[in-house]
Amino acid sequence: MSATAKTNLLNLDRANLEDFFRSHGEKPFRATQVLKWMHQGGVSDFDAMTNLSKELRQRLTEIAEVRAPEIVSDHTAPDGTRKWLLRVDSVNCVETVFIPEDDRGTLCVSSQVGCALDCAFCSTAQQGFNRNLSVSEIIGQVWVAKRALSDTKFERDRAITNVVLMGMGEPLANFDNVVQAIGVMKDDFAYGLSKRRITLSTSGIVPAIDRLREQCDVALAVSLHAPNDVLRDELVPINKKYPIRELLDACRRYVDRESRSNDRITFEYVMLQGVNDSPEHARDLARLLRGVPSKINLIPFNPFPQTRFVRSDDAAIARFRDILMNAGYVTITRRTRGDAIDAACGQLAGRVTDRTKRVLRRVNTLPDSPEPQACNG
Ligand code: SAH
Repeated sequence: MSATAKTNLLNLDRANLEDFFRSHGEKPFRATQVLKWMHQGGVSDFDAMTNLSKELRQRLTEIAEVRAPEIVSDHTAPDGTRKWLLRVDSVNCVETVFIPEDDRGTLCVSSQVGCALDCAFCSTAQQGFNRNLSVSEIIGQVWVAKRALSDTKFERDRAITNVVLMGMGEPLANFDNVVQAIGVMKDDFAYGLSKRRITLSTSGIVPAIDRLREQCDVALAVSLHAPNDVLRDELVPINKKYPIRELLDACRRYVDRESRSNDRITFEYVMLQGVNDSPEHARDLARLLRGVPSKINLIPFNPFPQTRFVRSDDAAIARFRDILMNAGYVTITRRTRGDAIDAACGQLAGRVTDRTKRVLRRVNTLPDSPEPQACNG
């Protein structure tokens, strides 16, 4: 066998797959054939790709592979939410969640192993950061979920109709791989999802929002969580670099672009008791978003071990929502799904070998913390 590694075809979008076949003296239409086998058929064995010649199948077996992350665990919550822990290399795992609803099936996909941002209320942040996911590891989550869901009894409970990039990681910090994976999600020869059915959620990396506007048409969700910079600096530290005003300007540019396919930004707002949930915060938020085509998504905080935050009570959330609705904003309170299996927003933790030493730093800043111990397994 040759010493060079096989090309993982899940890393290639249609254009790259065409180049791959061209470079091996094949016609580019092989790309669409193979895309269909891989993504629509869930096929990883080249021998099963029966509309390719025997020689080509043999050659592909030698030089290429279809390799997705491997399922480590697979749990379904009483509400039907299903979560997979997926191994992406010998030490790291990420999580992917499927949320079935009456009219849709949403897959929540991770973009990084851990997260380099340090949002105070997010459990992924506690894990630290290891690396970006590759294209095959991002689209591979859709590939694995689609295959796994085929064992579900009812058709309507297993179709992936929507994808949200709201799992572990900051998708705009892994821009190129995320955009390429989105291309495969949209490709009619792969998953054929329309741009309105793919939502990318970001903590607000302003230059990358502009790049996204130029390169890739999807719905945008922005994790706002606070109506002023003092509070947002504390909850979403990237705000110190890209404050609210710059962020909202980028949002306006995003919806103003020519194609206008995404006519509104979804603003996510996690409801934290006594922190950002007062009627005054709601009024400030209503004022802040005036003039930005918006939809507001209130997310009841989902707790995780060692968090200092508490979920706002239902009355506070209802009051907050009413103020925004009366100000004319479409406001939805996100239902908490999958919390029985730690699959709800902000609870995804995977298995991350932290390379940023964040976990260590945190231990060291605790009063009277013992010296960090070596991990002896
Ligand atoms: N990094 C991206 C995408 C991942 S988080 C982003 O920040 O948008 C997806 C959503 O869940 C974000 O709005 C995030 O702020 C929210 N979230 C994080 N932790 C949460 C928690 N503990 N409870 C509820 N929502 C949370």
